[in-house]
Amino acid sequence: MLELQGIAVSPGVAIGKVLILDREGYRITRSQIDSTDRQIELERLKTAIAEASSRLDQHRQRSTDAIGEHVGAIFSAHQGLLQDPSLQSEWFRYIDEHCYSAEFAVSAVLNRYARAFRSMGSDAMSERATDIRDVERTLLEALGGHPMEQTGGDGQSVLVSHDLTPSETANLDTAKILGFCTEVGGPGGHTAIVARGMEIPAVVGLGRFMHRIETNAEIIVDGFRGTVILQPDESTLQRYRERKKDRFIRAEKLTQIRDLPAVTKDGTKISLLANIEFAHEVAPCLERGAEGVGLYRTEFMFLAADGEPTEQQQFENYLEVIQALPDLPVIMRTLDLGADKIGSLASAEPESNPFLGLRSIRLSLRQPRMFRNQLRAMLRASAFGKLKIMFPLVSTLNELRMARMLLRQVREDLEEEGVPLAERTEVGMMVEVPAAVLMLDHFIKEVDFISLGTNDLIQYTMAVDRGNEFVADLYAGHDPAVIRLIRSSVEVANRNNVDVSVCGEMSANPKTALMLVGMGVRTLSAPPAALPLVKQAVRNVDLTDCQQIATRVFDFGTAREVDAFLQQRFAELLPEMAIGV
Ligand code: PEP
Ligand code: MG
Repeated sequence: MLELQGIAVSPGVAIGKVLILDREGYRITRSQIDSTDRQIELERLKTAIAEASSRLDQHRQRSTDAIGEHVGAIFSAHQGLLQDPSLQSEWFRYIDEHCYSAEFAVSAVLNRYARAFRSMGSDAMSERATDIRDVERTLLEALGGHPMEQTGGDGQSVLVSHDLTPSETANLDTAKILGFCTEVGGPGGHTAIVARGMEIPAVVGLGRFMHRIETNAEIIVDGFRGTVILQPDESTLQRYRERKKDRFIRAEKLTQIRDLPAVTKDGTKISLLANIEFAHEVAPCLERGAEGVGLYRTEFMFLAADGEPTEQQQFENYLEVIQALPDLPVIMRTLDLGADKIGSLASAEPESNPFLGLRSIRLSLRQPRMFRNQLRAMLRASAFGKLKIMFPLVSTLNELRMARMLLRQVREDLEEEGVPLAERTEVGMMVEVPAAVLMLDHFIKEVDFISLGTNDLIQYTMAVDRGNEFVADLYAGHDPAVIRLIRSSVEVANRNNVDVSVCGEMSANPKTALMLVGMGVRTLSAPPAALPLVKQAVRNVDLTDCQQIATRVFDFGTAREVDAFLQQRFAELLPEMAIGV
């Protein structure tokens, strides 16, 4: 038995069998073929090399025509690698001498080279490693593979991977995969957020451990504590099975308050809205008693499609959400691509600091055709419900004004075309950059509502990558610096009678949610699964308790002190809920 400590990112316990997924989304099991099938396997690989070669030629031709020789040249380099005689002879040798499958031969050899290049440390060598990965991907595809479809899983599997991108996570089949754990990743990354949305237990940032495991070994992922146990003994397994059962019973009890309002004991109403990534998540929203959607992360539709959906496809998707929640508000956020949400639409050029780069509203403003399409689809859907539009990662007034101007133009176009629209659509912005907090007295005059994106606000305030396990201890919503920015934003909004909500993950944790209520927040938006617990907490405290918490946290100079205080007050106010929160 081996116990590893990582970062708990999505609550729940998964007990199952290891299923290994490599970085690129392909399963590489050390599979062997019958020795009599070697010739067939060698032929299969030869055919795949020819197929991959013609695909690379097509890519080269298309990129040269569309962008220029310099981009086409990348694929010529890939072609060079694919045709490298020493590489090819190694692949053939793996099959011929060791009876490995063509897929394993390709992966094993290329992985070795990629690792070697990466370990050389320089950017140029890392790029070479990326080229090798690309060739691997093309070749595996030519061998009949497709990312994620090969993941497999049989309903008993726990996925183990070096890393998992947000879109790979979103594509996991929860009927087959019980949970996952990764070597890298931090607490606030989008992989973590998607996992919570999908209610799949997950632990990230475990450090290097994959060389210690084997496919089909028994594994426990404890998404409450951030522990992963490899080959657990019988008593540990028993303990975890009971823990799972307890959690299930607790969750069942929470369903009883689904239709009750979130009102404090002394009568203050808190609106609980849901954060969703996909249209089909409206079902869990309703099951968990959400009063609307406070954040629809529309970029996941683009990531899932790995390209730009047409205006009509977007319209239908938005309509699905709106119509499933009649009379309830739905805040649709415009594209927040870039940073760790990379699709084929994000920057063509690799950026050295993508979190500080061309992401979010910056990217949308640079791609006005795509932005207009999205706004058209949203405005068209606005005729059918209470749709509000929100812009992400706004850092300057100019960005807000440009986005609003585009929205006005799109509205005028649609009106001219005679398309039915809501008479008025509320427009808001996310406050998730310290610059926006500092300038909020200006922004607030030009929006109908704001929503605090604390996930990014923490990242940009503390200068800590939200997806990096090495600095995860600095990533804290209860850091006094972050608390000061939140309080200041809420005060400015309330003073100006502009609606303010919090849609970062701080809303999902009952401890921090009570502090936010104490600061004057009356709308919290969190993943559907988190709502019952937050509601239970709100219903069992007085507003004055929350206000006392919000005032007292200002006395502390460190995140650790704030955390200890929040924990202590929570245990005093809600002893029966305090375990495991
Ligand atoms: C946030 O930053 O808090 C937020 C809600 O947006 P996202 O997590 O999608 O960046
Ligand atoms: Mg954000």
